[in-house]
Amino acid sequence: MVSRFYNFGPGPATVPEPVLNKAREDLPEWHSSGMSVIEMSHRGKDFVGIAEHAEAILRELLAIPSSYRVLFLQGGATGQFAAVPLNLKRDKAKFAYLSTGLWSEKAIAEAKRYGEVQIVASSKERGYTAIPSRSDWNIDPDAAYLHYTANETIGGVEFQSIPEVESLTLVADMSSNILSRPVDVSRFGVIYAGAQKNLGPAGITLVIVREDLIGHAHPFTPSILDYKLQADNGSMLNTPPTYNWYLLGLVLEWIKEQGGIPAIEARNIRKADKLYAAIDASSFYSNPVDPAVRSRMNVPFLLAKTDLEKAFLAEAKAHGLVNLEGHRSVGGLRAST
Ligand SMILES: *Cc1c(COP(=O)(O)O)cnc(C)c1O
Repeated sequence: MVSRFYNFGPGPATVPEPVLNKAREDLPEWHSSGMSVIEMSHRGKDFVGIAEHAEAILRELLAIPSSYRVLFLQGGATGQFAAVPLNLKRDKAKFAYLSTGLWSEKAIAEAKRYGEVQIVASSKERGYTAIPSRSDWNIDPDAAYLHYTANETIGGVEFQSIPEVESLTLVADMSSNILSRPVDVSRFGVIYAGAQKNLGPAGITLVIVREDLIGHAHPFTPSILDYKLQADNGSMLNTPPTYNWYLLGLVLEWIKEQGGIPAIEARNIRKADKLYAAIDASSFYSNPVDPAVRSRMNVPFLLAKTDLEKAFLAEAKAHGLVNLEGHRSVGGLRAST
């Protein structure tokens, strides 16, 4: 593998080369099992071992308390946009959401199908380049939960700390920044993430849910989105995405080998600092985001002469740097790290 690009795509995203090489080694036959992981029964001893190993490393990396269940589901983060309101509604009428970008908007639109959404605060009028300050939030204490998008992948806006919400259940979409910085899981009711940004392959979705929130799903909840049915069945209510689960485990092993989240975070800070410093020092590149909440994961930028974008992308590609286009909904450029 000598001709690999530097892939700045947000997700599916670049995977560490040692992980790809390990997967290649294991592909035809996993550990003298006589078959590929792709071919194994999900209920067999070998695959159950692979699945449990992935969960164990994740629990270690994030120091997940024993009062939380870890689920490996399908349907992506988008599936969780529905699963969260359906599982957490109980007898409450409202869901509270912070609106900080296009992924927040999508989560809100889905939640509205299942109840009334209260927008706690929004940075829409500022073009989603900021996070509304905590003193301006208007939280209904009777909401079922407060949901926020920890990192807005498109706008490049990232919460730098966990919001203070007193006794309200906190839910976070961490699709594009999970494992990039330490996080105190005990502050959350639910954390979810599609895997294709920070955890490996598309097609598997991580859900970390506090035990007391399990078992109260709305009766219309599809079985595959029901946290209790999935928790009771080891995330194997139906056939899980076995190969993706295995690949996710390899990525977690690699992160552990690097020194865990502190080492990964240090790397992320170095990369983001370099990028923002280059942008800020230049009169040609610019980044519109409030510096206090700039994302370490996704760095959107504009050229002083927007008509040079095509030439920029072509020359970047000639240097082996690809997928630097901004999201199709906002244009511009973006480097996802
Ligand atoms: C990519 C992304 C999603 C959507 O994920 P899917 O797995 O494609 O459903 C949701 N939220 C955030 C923050 C994302 O970056």
